[in-house]
Amino acid sequence: MVLQIDQFMCREDNFGVLIHDPKSGETALIDAPEERPILAAIERTGWKPTMILTTHHHQDHVEANLALKERFGLKIFGPKDSKIPGIDVELSEGSKFEFAGQPAEIIETPGHTADHICYYLPKSHVAFVADTLFAMGCGRLLEKPASVMFQSLKKLVALPAATTLYCGHEYTLANARFALTIDPTNSALKERAAKVEKLRADGKPTLPTTLAEELATNPFIRWHDPAIRKNLGMENATDAEVFAEIRKRKDNF
Ligand SMILES: [Zn+2]
Repeated sequence: MVLQIDQFMCREDNFGVLIHDPKSGETALIDAPEERPILAAIERTGWKPTMILTTHHHQDHVEANLALKERFGLKIFGPKDSKIPGIDVELSEGSKFEFAGQPAEIIETPGHTADHICYYLPKSHVAFVADTLFAMGCGRLLEKPASVMFQSLKKLVALPAATTLYCGHEYTLANARFALTIDPTNSALKERAAKVEKLRADGKPTLPTTLAEELATNPFIRWHDPAIRKNLGMENATDAEVFAEIRKRKDNF
């Protein structure tokens, strides 16, 4: 079964994503950042949403939950023990969950928020990682410390490298500029940063990405890299310490 996926902008820099199974008509919205652009995407694609898959409780990911639930009678899935508006089904790591008959895995990734979950569809080689991992970046640590986010990111980097990653925000340009300060001799990063400058100058999105591309260019998951460690003066630090230092530097960038 081939899923169809449509990504569109909401608010300032949020992504909305619709995933659609043409056979069953089942359609999921990954987060609900803003009603108007979501309705426009539904109109444009003709895909009527049957569910919302919520990643975390932030307002810019759940704002349209109740309005869309009322309009479409859809079901809202999301993390357990949270405050997701209109939630019907609470999910946690290991929850049995399917989208259009294909298995969907819930990966708990606390860090940005305590409740953050990612959705991974192994048969479609796609994961929705919202505000945990970004192109050349990672989410801000608002509710959990770096040691917790490090463990969450380790789960994501263990996915197959060919996995396509959909992220919550278009932060790629700022992330690329920061990444170059951490990993200035990485030629894959330099090439990617140039590509991103061009895409953004043309007003085009830089996502989705792939895990392979992030493994090659994203300093937040390249804690093992000798050149980065040398640049930071952290040759003998643990992976978690290297990650924490990079996150701290980004906060002050
Ligand atoms: Zn968030």
